[in-house]
Amino acid sequence: MTGIEVPSAVIEVARSARSVAVLTGAGVSAESGVPTFRDAQTGLWSNFDPADLASPEGWARDSDLVWGWYQWRAQLVRRSEPNAGHLALTEWQQRVHLDIATQNVDDLHERAGSTVIAHVHGSLFDPRCSECGLHSQPEPDPFDERSDRVPPPSCPDCGGEMRPGAVWFGEPLPETEWTAAVEAVESADLVLVVGTSGVVFPFAGLPAMARSTGATVVEINPVETEISDMADFRWRTTAATGLPALVDSLR
Ligand SMILES: [Zn+2]
Repeated sequence: MTGIEVPSAVIEVARSARSVAVLTGAGVSAESGVPTFRDAQTGLWSNFDPADLASPEGWARDSDLVWGWYQWRAQLVRRSEPNAGHLALTEWQQRVHLDIATQNVDDLHERAGSTVIAHVHGSLFDPRCSECGLHSQPEPDPFDERSDRVPPPSCPDCGGEMRPGAVWFGEPLPETEWTAAVEAVESADLVLVVGTSGVVFPFAGLPAMARSTGATVVEINPVETEISDMADFRWRTTAATGLPALVDSLR
């Protein structure tokens, strides 16, 4: 038992929902110890602006540096474990139709046993060829904490440089992932927005889309966000605390 009280209005909408869409953001991963994008600038990386590393320009300038940074972030994720919030969604997904669309580039939902319908900002674990677009997961290099530069592996098909699978600043979202997220929201009667600040568009536009199609929007976040105003219910708690309590209360 988690011992926290779930707002009765939230239990009510969750109980009657036949199709749920859950939109997750950095806060959900942060509770597993995965540093947020900005907080990831420590040690070797403290002198770099993430906007310079996560951009087509940064890649053109120094692909070894960018690949090294993504290898390091992937390493941080491998050392992290799904938290109680991830696990609660897995349990809930076994009981109702529940689509998860995430901004997170980690694989914590999957490692918790959930199916993710869309990684709208890509994935740390889905690199692709910068020339021919082939997706291929090379064996991770033995990780060296002291080195910031790691040459990207070559494409097994064309020999081009493999690039990280995350979406960079200035790039469009992957179309199939975005379409899947929109469809999930449009077909849901309950949309739960968890641990996202609501400032990164177009992802941040999904809750408004949910409202316009008549879904109930519930925000789970310890702090006020850009999304708060358009939510039907705001529950000031975190994913790892609130989601297990909610899913327990639906038994
Ligand atoms: Zn290629």
